[in-house]
Amino acid sequence: MKKKETDLLCAGVTRRDFIKTCVTATAMMGLPFAMHTRIAEAVETNRNPAVIWLHFQECTGCTESLLRSSHPTVASLILDMISLDYHETLMVGSGHQAEKSLHDSMQANRGKYLLVVEGAIPTKENGIYCKVAGKTAIESLRHAAEGAAAIITVGTCAGYGGIQSVAPNPTGAVGVRDIIKDKPIINIPGCPPNPYNFLSTVMYYLTFNRIPDLDSLGRPKFAYGRKIHEHCERRPHFDAGRFAKAYGDATHAEGYCLYKLGCKGPETFANCSVQRFNDVGAWPVSVGHPCIGCTEPHILFKMPIAEKVQIHEPTPPDTYAPVNLRDKGKGADPLTTGILGLAAGAALGAGAMMAKKLPKDGPAEEEKHEKSE
Ligand code: SF4
Repeated sequence: MKKKETDLLCAGVTRRDFIKTCVTATAMMGLPFAMHTRIAEAVETNRNPAVIWLHFQECTGCTESLLRSSHPTVASLILDMISLDYHETLMVGSGHQAEKSLHDSMQANRGKYLLVVEGAIPTKENGIYCKVAGKTAIESLRHAAEGAAAIITVGTCAGYGGIQSVAPNPTGAVGVRDIIKDKPIINIPGCPPNPYNFLSTVMYYLTFNRIPDLDSLGRPKFAYGRKIHEHCERRPHFDAGRFAKAYGDATHAEGYCLYKLGCKGPETFANCSVQRFNDVGAWPVSVGHPCIGCTEPHILFKMPIAEKVQIHEPTPPDTYAPVNLRDKGKGADPLTTGILGLAAGAALGAGAMMAKKLPKDGPAEEEKHEKSE
């Protein structure tokens, strides 16, 4: 048995759980099913990349969501796949001891380590609003980024500034990409992000030795390539025009679409409606709360929760005739009349053809009988 595999089993991850997680990550990355063996092999045999994890302006919710997922596999796998040399929340050492391991790891793994950042970076007043070990967040970030192979930001704060950057932004908070311009940066936004998105990104890096394809906001396309709205279980209600009108009322209890309560799903790129959270199949919309657009820098905390996003492509297209005309009161609109006219014309044409085929006396007796029944 390979050493890494033994380590994983020792950490309480069964072989079955391990393969299951590799298959999930393979599916999430949009890779063929057969690739899961290559990914498993890369995780088992790979070189434990050194990871330095810095915390700045944040609530530690991203780390908490990773560690407190109900299923132990994700956190165990991540912690066993990498060599986590510095993480202020998790490391046992503190003070000078902790700073020494940060310094030693950066020296020993120069040009090879992954830098993970959680939290926004304050820039006003020379960055004095966040200091660790006597250094401002900007200084620590610049210093650690210098020797990194790539940077992964975890959470919307580190990616784009998050709630700290909302006007009037008293500390001048920004995301990593506003400060570091010369390193590959992979953003895993969310408040918090799904741990599987982070896990799959690390697995991709270990397997292919390069970063995954990113969208214009630096997010892996495999996880942020589709809108939540496209795979939401409430989508049939949206398409049928059934909307929850108030929290706790009958429409909400029926599980209708949450768009009119401010759901940002139609504008939000993320895989929450597919991957869900905590391995129990739950996500905010499934339990009755509208999506707050936490992966979108122009939405999260910038738009009021109850405000509706613009629907650019309503479905079904509003050029379709309404299905139910009874409640209209004023009769069918011109387009509907046109479509019905065409249908009636086609029916009349078909009727004429039938008439030509029928004998002059009309339908046979049996047919008359069937029609009268
Ligand atoms: Fe789901 Fe929100 Fe879209 Fe409605 S608007 S279908 S609740 S994502």
